Amino acid sequence: MSNGEIRFAVIGAGPAGFYTAEQLLNGGFAVDLFDALPTPFGLVRAGVAPDHPKIKSVTRVYERTAARPGFRFFGGVELGADIAREELLARYHGICYAVGTSTDNRLGIPGEDRPGSHAATEFVAWYNGHPDYADRAFDLSATRAVVIGNGNVAIDVARMLLLDPEELAVTDTADHALEALQRAQVQHVTLLGRRGPAQAAFTNPELRELGELARADVVVDPAELELDEHSAARLESTGDKVVRRNVELLREYALRERRGKPRRIELKFLRSPIALLGGGQDGAVGCLRVMCNRIEPDASGDLRAVPTGEEEVLECGLVLRSIGYRGRPLPGVPFDERRGLIRNVGGRVCDEEGRCSHGEYVVGWIKRGPSGVIGTNKKDAVDTVARILEDAELSRLNRPEQPDPDGVQQWLRGRVPGLTTWAGWEAIDRFETTLGVSQGRPRVKLIRVSDMIDAATRPRFRAPSPWR
Ligand code: NAP
Repeated sequence: MSNGEIRFAVIGAGPAGFYTAEQLLNGGFAVDLFDALPTPFGLVRAGVAPDHPKIKSVTRVYERTAARPGFRFFGGVELGADIAREELLARYHGICYAVGTSTDNRLGIPGEDRPGSHAATEFVAWYNGHPDYADRAFDLSATRAVVIGNGNVAIDVARMLLLDPEELAVTDTADHALEALQRAQVQHVTLLGRRGPAQAAFTNPELRELGELARADVVVDPAELELDEHSAARLESTGDKVVRRNVELLREYALRERRGKPRRIELKFLRSPIALLGGGQDGAVGCLRVMCNRIEPDASGDLRAVPTGEEEVLECGLVLRSIGYRGRPLPGVPFDERRGLIRNVGGRVCDEEGRCSHGEYVVGWIKRGPSGVIGTNKKDAVDTVARILEDAELSRLNRPEQPDPDGVQQWLRGRVPGLTTWAGWEAIDRFETTLGVSQGRPRVKLIRVSDMIDAATRPRFRAPSPWR
């Protein structure tokens, strides 16, 4: 059988899914790319901060992939709800799961679910107009907010809380969030790290951007940057330029004169949340109790946060928990509960004993965990597709009973009334960008699945009013 007759279903149309599709097409395979939403691009559409349009322009690369012969997009199809893994195995020589890590890690502390405490993942999905989160309510009337975590998502959400209304107005922030963020009362955001400045997971451009906000001064107490002996020695010996530059940037911030901007973003380190206490209306969060930490190496040499026994209380009416993502299991697919990932060896889906199934693969965050930038997924896709090519060579792919591509389309049309294709997405895209032009924004996002399906299938679709 030539590669051209080998057909793959890639599940999840985010960066990992698109890079995998590109690699599979390069290998001569045919690819059907599925997404649970009618729209493609995953976290590029629903995760990347709206004030980072350059990062979003990577979709041009994905559009080129979508234009290649052998590629089809099926939107609005949820694996596990609309279709089953076994039905895919009956129709494809292989499945590659690129579903990302869609849920948040939990702190596991008292008061975590008080009103006013939210997972950053939900806040991000809300301001980016993900249909599943468009109806969430975020009370932004508090003047003090704490963002827990020292990664780039923590920086994104802190920045979004403090952007000037004019900076926000030119973005593709979903309309409901645009209005709420422009009215937000937040004056002071604390970014809280459980370890020290030399362990922060920020990348340099993101940390630098905090110092460039139009209406917020960045504040760091020099005492926060005094390094313990282990961190100092590690920093001295490390070749990690990102960490060194982060510490330099933080030192510059500590020395910086306040510029008299009306809002503040403050960075604090070596504090772990231990309880969210009430104090707001109806039991809403009023403050955060934290344990102070010191840094100690563990048995493997990693530098860990160890409690000192000293506690502090930080006043806040809004808490965003930004401590990383984890995956959700898919029915019938081996899952590592501890790591929150699909079990795999180098991208081949395997069970607990390491036995790999024929024709099932995994790529992106659900394979390796939520790490790296968008481009990291390209190398990851190259690695997984290399395994696929090896298996194809050795005839170790799945043997589907019904590999007919037209049959797939018929089956899906019967199963999913709102199925969208690439042409349908292009119609949604035209609709959103046309509306955006009139407002000086890249696009005005549709946030209801029903509106997306209407825009995809009815060329004269007019936006509902009011939007929500
Ligand atoms: P991340 O980079 O892994 O950061 C997670 C943070 O949460 C770390 O500071 C971690 O501290 C902290 N944390 C974990 N468990 C905690 C706990 N129980 N208590 C307190 N703190 C805890 O994750 P992320 O920010 O979600 O980002 C995910 C990936 O997307 C990253 O690779 C990131 O660079 C990328 N991203 C990139 C951009 C961009 O390029 N502009 C934007 C957004 C996201 P420890 O280090 O101590 O574990």
